[in-house]
Amino acid sequence: MDDIKEMYFSQTALRTYLSCPYRFKKRYIDGLYWRYESDSIQLGSEFHLDMKRHFLGLPLSGKNSNLVSAATMFLPMEAGKKYLPEYTLRYNDNSVKITVRYDLLVIGDTIEIYDWKVGKSKLNASKLATDIQTQLYLYTMASAGQIIKKDMEPADISITYFNPFHPSSPVHINYDSYKLDKNRIYISGLVSRILKDSEYALTTDKRKCIHCEYNRLCNGKSVSARSINGQDSDLSWDDIEEISF
Ligand code: SF4
Repeated sequence: MDDIKEMYFSQTALRTYLSCPYRFKKRYIDGLYWRYESDSIQLGSEFHLDMKRHFLGLPLSGKNSNLVSAATMFLPMEAGKKYLPEYTLRYNDNSVKITVRYDLLVIGDTIEIYDWKVGKSKLNASKLATDIQTQLYLYTMASAGQIIKKDMEPADISITYFNPFHPSSPVHINYDSYKLDKNRIYISGLVSRILKDSEYALTTDKRKCIHCEYNRLCNGKSVSARSINGQDSDLSWDDIEEISF
Protein backbone atom coordinates (compact mmCIF):
# COMPACT_ATOMS: atom_id res chain seq x y z
CA MET A 1 0.00 0.00 0.00
CA ASP A 2 1.47 3.38 -1.06
CA ASP A 3 -0.12 5.42 1.71
CA ILE A 4 -1.28 3.69 4.85
CA LYS A 5 -3.42 6.72 5.69
CA GLU A 6 -5.73 5.63 2.87
CA MET A 7 -6.17 2.17 4.32
CA TYR A 8 -9.51 0.98 5.69
CA PHE A 9 -8.71 -1.27 8.64
CA SER A 10 -10.48 -4.61 8.91
CA GLN A 11 -10.58 -6.74 12.02
CA THR A 12 -7.94 -9.00 10.45
CA ALA A 13 -5.59 -6.06 9.88
CA LEU A 14 -6.05 -4.83 13.47
CA ARG A 15 -5.65 -8.34 14.85
CA THR A 16 -2.50 -8.85 12.80
CA TYR A 17 -0.99 -5.62 14.13
CA LEU A 18 -1.88 -6.53 17.73
CA SER A 19 -0.26 -9.92 17.25
CA CYS A 20 2.90 -8.67 15.52
CA PRO A 21 3.44 -5.19 14.02
CA TYR A 22 6.12 -6.56 11.67
CA ARG A 23 3.72 -9.12 10.28
CA PHE A 24 1.22 -6.31 9.68
CA LYS A 25 3.88 -4.36 7.78
CA LYS A 26 4.85 -7.33 5.60
CA ARG A 27 1.25 -8.15 4.76
CA TYR A 28 -0.43 -4.75 4.42
CA ILE A 29 2.32 -2.25 3.63
CA ASP A 30 4.86 -4.33 1.71
CA GLY A 31 2.11 -6.40 0.10
CA LEU A 32 4.01 -9.64 0.66
CA TYR A 33 1.26 -12.22 0.81
CA TRP A 34 1.31 -15.98 0.76
CA ARG A 35 -1.61 -17.37 -1.10
CA TYR A 36 -2.68 -20.73 0.26
CA GLU A 37 -5.89 -22.60 0.86
CA SER A 38 -5.93 -24.86 3.87
CA ASP A 39 -8.65 -27.41 4.64
CA SER A 40 -10.07 -25.03 7.27
CA ILE A 41 -10.24 -22.15 4.81
CA GLN A 42 -11.92 -24.34 2.20
CA LEU A 43 -14.53 -25.55 4.69
CA GLY A 44 -15.11 -22.00 5.89
CA SER A 45 -15.50 -20.71 2.33
CA GLU A 46 -17.97 -23.44 1.37
CA PHE A 47 -20.00 -23.01 4.53
CA HIS A 48 -20.17 -19.21 4.28
CA LEU A 49 -21.13 -19.41 0.62
CA ASP A 50 -23.97 -21.82 1.34
CA MET A 51 -25.21 -19.66 4.21
CA LYS A 52 -25.25 -16.70 1.83
CA ARG A 53 -27.18 -18.74 -0.74
CA HIS A 54 -29.67 -19.86 1.91
CA PHE A 55 -30.50 -16.31 3.01
CA LEU A 56 -30.75 -15.16 -0.62
CA GLY A 57 -33.10 -18.05 -1.44
CA LEU A 58 -30.64 -19.65 -3.89
CA PRO A 59 -29.94 -23.41 -4.35
CA LEU A 60 -27.30 -24.82 -1.99
CA SER A 61 -24.15 -26.66 -3.05
CA GLY A 62 -25.02 -29.82 -1.09
CA LYS A 63 -21.60 -29.76 0.60
CA ASN A 64 -21.37 -29.74 4.41
CA SER A 65 -25.15 -30.14 4.55
CA ASN A 66 -25.13 -31.18 8.25
CA LEU A 67 -23.42 -27.94 9.19
CA VAL A 68 -25.72 -25.82 7.04
CA SER A 69 -28.81 -27.57 8.51
CA ALA A 70 -27.58 -26.90 12.05
CA ALA A 71 -27.21 -23.20 11.26
CA THR A 72 -30.52 -22.81 9.45
CA MET A 73 -32.34 -24.61 12.28
CA PHE A 74 -30.67 -22.28 14.75
CA LEU A 75 -31.81 -19.24 12.81
CA PRO A 76 -35.11 -19.84 10.99
CA MET A 77 -36.15 -16.95 8.76
CA GLU A 78 -39.05 -14.89 10.10
CA ALA A 79 -41.59 -12.89 8.11
CA GLY A 80 -41.21 -9.13 8.48
CA LYS A 81 -37.44 -9.23 9.00
CA LYS A 82 -34.82 -8.33 6.42
CA TYR A 83 -31.86 -10.70 5.93
CA LEU A 84 -28.64 -9.24 4.54
CA PRO A 85 -25.87 -11.83 4.08
CA GLU A 86 -22.28 -10.69 3.54
CA TYR A 87 -22.95 -7.04 4.08
CA THR A 88 -19.99 -4.64 3.98
CA LEU A 89 -20.03 -1.45 6.02
CA ARG A 90 -17.30 1.21 5.92
CA TYR A 91 -16.83 4.04 8.36
CA ASN A 92 -14.60 7.05 7.79
CA ASP A 93 -14.26 9.38 10.74
CA ASN A 94 -11.38 11.55 9.50
CA SER A 95 -8.34 9.75 10.86
CA VAL A 96 -10.15 6.48 11.54
CA LYS A 97 -11.12 4.40 8.50
CA ILE A 98 -12.56 1.00 9.24
CA THR A 99 -14.33 -1.70 7.26
CA VAL A 100 -16.40 -4.69 8.30
CA ARG A 101 -17.91 -7.49 6.31
CA TYR A 102 -20.76 -9.01 8.28
CA ASP A 103 -21.67 -12.64 7.65
CA LEU A 104 -25.33 -11.81 8.19
CA LEU A 105 -27.46 -8.91 9.38
CA VAL A 106 -31.04 -9.47 10.47
CA ILE A 107 -32.99 -6.23 10.53
CA GLY A 108 -36.28 -5.92 12.38
CA ASP A 109 -36.97 -3.76 15.42
CA THR A 110 -33.32 -4.41 16.24
CA ILE A 111 -30.11 -5.07 14.31
CA GLU A 112 -28.81 -8.58 14.87
CA ILE A 113 -25.31 -9.37 13.63
CA TYR A 114 -24.47 -13.05 13.05
CA ASP A 115 -20.99 -14.43 12.60
CA TRP A 116 -20.33 -18.03 11.56
CA LYS A 117 -17.38 -19.92 13.02
CA VAL A 118 -16.32 -23.37 11.87
CA GLY A 119 -13.47 -24.20 14.23
CA LYS A 120 -13.57 -27.59 15.93
CA SER A 121 -13.46 -26.14 19.44
CA LYS A 122 -16.38 -24.57 21.31
CA LEU A 123 -16.73 -20.80 21.21
CA ASN A 124 -15.08 -19.03 24.12
CA ALA A 125 -17.64 -16.52 25.44
CA SER A 126 -15.31 -14.50 27.66
CA LYS A 127 -12.67 -14.23 24.95
CA LEU A 128 -15.24 -13.16 22.36
CA ALA A 129 -16.70 -10.52 24.70
CA THR A 130 -13.53 -8.43 24.41
CA ASP A 131 -12.22 -9.69 21.06
CA ILE A 132 -11.21 -7.10 18.47
CA GLN A 133 -13.80 -8.55 16.06
CA THR A 134 -16.63 -8.02 18.55
CA GLN A 135 -15.49 -4.49 19.31
CA LEU A 136 -15.04 -3.51 15.66
CA TYR A 137 -18.24 -5.11 14.41
CA LEU A 138 -20.46 -3.51 17.04
CA TYR A 139 -18.67 -0.14 16.96
CA THR A 140 -18.88 0.10 13.16
CA MET A 141 -22.57 -0.76 13.18
CA ALA A 142 -23.32 1.81 15.90
CA SER A 143 -21.29 4.46 14.04
CA ALA A 144 -22.32 3.83 10.42
CA GLY A 145 -25.39 1.60 10.57
CA GLN A 146 -27.88 4.45 10.22
CA ILE A 147 -27.90 3.78 6.48
CA ILE A 148 -29.43 0.39 7.32
CA LYS A 149 -31.79 1.47 10.08
CA LYS A 150 -32.50 5.09 10.90
CA ASP A 151 -32.75 6.20 14.54
CA MET A 152 -31.19 3.05 15.90
CA GLU A 153 -29.49 3.16 19.28
CA PRO A 154 -26.44 1.17 20.41
CA ALA A 155 -28.74 -0.88 22.66
CA ASP A 156 -30.63 -2.04 19.54
CA ILE A 157 -27.52 -3.86 18.29
CA SER A 158 -26.25 -7.31 19.22
CA ILE A 159 -23.83 -9.87 17.83
CA THR A 160 -24.24 -13.64 17.92
CA TYR A 161 -21.45 -16.06 17.12
CA PHE A 162 -22.58 -19.50 15.99
CA ASN A 163 -20.54 -22.61 15.35
CA PRO A 164 -22.51 -25.44 13.64
CA PHE A 165 -20.14 -28.02 15.19
CA HIS A 166 -21.48 -26.86 18.59
CA PRO A 167 -25.03 -25.73 17.81
CA SER A 168 -26.13 -25.59 21.45
CA SER A 169 -23.37 -23.17 22.46
CA PRO A 170 -23.84 -19.89 20.57
CA VAL A 171 -22.41 -16.72 22.11
CA HIS A 172 -24.70 -13.69 22.22
CA ILE A 173 -23.37 -10.22 23.12
CA ASN A 174 -25.50 -7.11 23.59
CA TYR A 175 -24.34 -3.56 23.01
CA ASP A 176 -24.89 -0.19 24.72
CA SER A 177 -23.65 3.41 24.78
CA TYR A 178 -21.07 2.70 27.46
CA LYS A 179 -19.43 -0.04 25.35
CA LEU A 180 -19.62 2.22 22.28
CA ASP A 181 -17.65 4.96 24.06
CA LYS A 182 -15.06 2.45 25.26
CA ASN A 183 -14.71 0.91 21.79
CA ARG A 184 -14.42 4.32 20.13
CA ILE A 185 -11.50 5.25 22.38
CA TYR A 186 -9.78 1.90 21.94
CA ILE A 187 -10.21 1.56 18.17
CA SER A 188 -9.33 5.16 17.30
CA GLY A 189 -6.29 4.88 19.62
CA LEU A 190 -5.20 1.64 17.95
CA VAL A 191 -5.60 3.02 14.42
CA SER A 192 -3.67 6.19 15.22
CA ARG A 193 -0.94 4.09 16.86
CA ILE A 194 -0.62 2.06 13.64
CA LEU A 195 -0.59 5.21 11.48
CA LYS A 196 2.20 6.73 13.58
CA ASP A 197 4.29 3.57 13.83
CA SER A 198 7.60 3.73 12.00
CA GLU A 199 9.29 0.70 13.59
CA TYR A 200 6.80 -2.15 13.16
CA ALA A 201 8.59 -4.22 15.76
CA LEU A 202 8.80 -8.00 15.61
CA THR A 203 6.78 -9.73 18.31
CA THR A 204 8.78 -10.94 21.26
CA ASP A 205 6.38 -13.87 21.68
CA LYS A 206 8.06 -16.46 19.47
CA ARG A 207 5.13 -18.86 19.83
CA LYS A 208 3.32 -16.67 17.31
CA CYS A 209 6.09 -17.26 14.76
CA ILE A 210 5.39 -21.00 14.53
CA HIS A 211 2.22 -20.38 12.52
CA CYS A 212 3.43 -17.29 10.65
CA GLU A 213 4.13 -17.17 6.94
CA TYR A 214 7.20 -14.97 7.56
CA ASN A 215 8.94 -17.39 9.94
CA ARG A 216 11.74 -18.03 7.47
CA LEU A 217 12.26 -14.32 6.93
CA CYS A 218 12.42 -13.47 10.65
CA ASN A 219 13.82 -16.63 12.21
CA GLY A 220 15.20 -18.72 9.36
CA LYS A 221 12.64 -21.45 10.16
CA SER A 222 10.87 -23.43 7.47
CA VAL A 223 7.28 -22.53 6.67
CA SER A 224 4.69 -24.90 5.29
CA ALA A 225 0.98 -24.74 4.62
CA ARG A 226 0.65 -27.38 7.35
CA SER A 227 2.34 -25.19 9.95
CA ILE A 228 0.07 -22.27 9.04
CA ASN A 229 -3.01 -24.49 8.97
CA GLY A 230 -2.93 -24.69 12.76
CA GLN A 231 -3.87 -21.05 13.19
CA ASP A 232 -6.96 -20.78 11.03
CA SER A 233 -9.47 -23.12 12.62
CA ASP A 234 -11.73 -20.27 13.69
CA LEU A 235 -11.37 -17.65 11.02
CA SER A 236 -14.04 -15.19 10.07
CA TRP A 237 -15.28 -14.60 6.57
CA ASP A 238 -13.20 -11.47 6.13
CA ASP A 239 -10.12 -13.39 7.29
CA ILE A 240 -10.83 -15.93 4.59
CA GLU A 241 -11.29 -13.24 1.99
CA GLU A 242 -8.13 -11.39 2.92
CA ILE A 243 -5.85 -14.37 3.31
CA SER A 244 -6.96 -16.38 0.32
CA PHE A 245 -7.36 -13.70 -2.30
S1 SF4 B 1 7.69 -14.70 12.09
FE1 SF4 B 1 7.21 -13.90 14.12
S2 SF4 B 1 8.24 -11.92 14.23
FE2 SF4 B 1 8.16 -12.49 12.05
S3 SF4 B 1 6.32 -11.55 11.24
FE3 SF4 B 1 5.76 -13.60 11.91
S4 SF4 B 1 5.02 -13.39 14.01
FE4 SF4 B 1 6.16 -11.52 13.49
